[in-house]
Amino acid sequence: MQASTDKSGVCAVCKSPADLRCTGCKEEFYCNSTHQKDDWSRHKLSCRPWKIEENEELGKHLIATRNLEAGDLIITEAPIIWGPALHSDKRVCVGCGNQNVAVRCPGCSWYACKVSCDGLVDANRHAIECKILAKVRIIPRCDILLPLRMILLKKRYPSRWEALSSLESHEDKRGPGTETYEETQDIIQQLQPILEAFSMSPDVLNKICGLIDVNALETNPPEGSAAIYQNACLLEHSCLANTRHNFVLDNKSRPKIIIRAARPIKKGEHLSTTYTHVLWTTRARREHLLATKYFSCRCKRCQDPTELNSHLGTVRCPCGPGLILPKDPLDLDTKWSCNSCPGVLTSDEVLQLVDRLGEEVENAMSTAKESVLSDLHSKLSVLLHPGHQHCIAVAHSLIQLQSPDNMKKRELCERILQTTSVLDPYGARLALYTAVALREFASCPGEERKLHLERAIDLLKHEPHQSPGDQLKRLIQAEL
Ligand SMILES: [Zn+2]
Ligand SMILES: [Zn+2]
Ligand SMILES: [Zn+2]
Ligand SMILES: [Zn+2]
Ligand SMILES: [Zn+2]
Ligand SMILES: [Zn+2]
Repeated sequence: MQASTDKSGVCAVCKSPADLRCTGCKEEFYCNSTHQKDDWSRHKLSCRPWKIEENEELGKHLIATRNLEAGDLIITEAPIIWGPALHSDKRVCVGCGNQNVAVRCPGCSWYACKVSCDGLVDANRHAIECKILAKVRIIPRCDILLPLRMILLKKRYPSRWEALSSLESHEDKRGPGTETYEETQDIIQQLQPILEAFSMSPDVLNKICGLIDVNALETNPPEGSAAIYQNACLLEHSCLANTRHNFVLDNKSRPKIIIRAARPIKKGEHLSTTYTHVLWTTRARREHLLATKYFSCRCKRCQDPTELNSHLGTVRCPCGPGLILPKDPLDLDTKWSCNSCPGVLTSDEVLQLVDRLGEEVENAMSTAKESVLSDLHSKLSVLLHPGHQHCIAVAHSLIQLQSPDNMKKRELCERILQTTSVLDPYGARLALYTAVALREFASCPGEERKLHLERAIDLLKHEPHQSPGDQLKRLIQAEL
């Protein structure tokens, strides 16, 4: 380990003045290299285990600087800025982000959870924007709060704004004629009076909306909010991510992010997260990533027509045993061909079929009736591979309605568990989803109940206190 000498502090070992600084985290100081070496066995547990690198393809990204075990802490940080998610029409408290809004803020008349809400009365939080909102009289619309907070940050804290605006915003891909441009115009219109009051150009909102779309992570808690983080936002995307994250409220009620290794990670490996839904087909994931992050994923899963044998996007051929798979999954317009007859479909034909069935799935799910879901699952199984996204979605609802002695239930549980074990082998994204399936599986006669329940508890061990995952964990512990 090397040390740099550009600042000074107090030695972590002997407390004397020190100018050797840990190059990993740049936070620990030592008076000499012997003390630094002596302290390493203690400090390595807290020292930052990554560095930032930059290249043309990925921009800034994070590389592990030492071997990590599953569960090792990688990043924990408070957001630079947070607020209601940009594309949400949910009402949230302007003070704390809570979705239970019951009153109006006495200052600005925007939604609030209670008049005594901490965030509402704290002079450093809502109080600042409250005066402005009261003055310009905008109709309360929660989705403009985050852009407004970023305008205020730019105005009041130039150095924090600088850190924020150094993140990727892809303004060049958000110009006139794009959907994001229209959305931004709407926000510019809402915030026009504030831009004028601060003599700011509307262009600043193009940048701000780009920063939010590209970097903001949806938090929970508070549910329905989004936050931007200095380092966590540099994690690159992979459909098979090697980190997991969750949020906890810190002592200022801000959503602090906690990122841990989801599996053992080798020194030099890229650190990654998934910026899309794990149980979406390759087409849906890649379209979403391209539209929101301007990124074309080419990971192992995206390149594999069978999506790692999960068959999440595979359609059945009327020929009987044949499966219809995309020739080149990285090409949106690819032909889909049967693996046992000469049958070919265009990608539009596949999309139309899958979209139409998707609507039926949505309608059936809203009934939450066992007979409706069971009939639909039978129908889907004729047209789609049993591992298809739609079959899995219906199966996951169905198993929770079926009684344990239903012969079909075990089969559906096995299929779901097979899918999640391939697409999210470490429970980084689907821990709760998989645990629900394990609990249903455990209830089937003849199954090794204890084994499945213990596995579910293990998957849920990182779920934040009081979260739905944490509650399920307690329930299963009680059942055991
Ligand atoms: Zn010392
Ligand atoms: Zn360090
Ligand atoms: Zn509140
Ligand atoms: Zn207010
Ligand atoms: Zn991918
Ligand atoms: Zn065929």
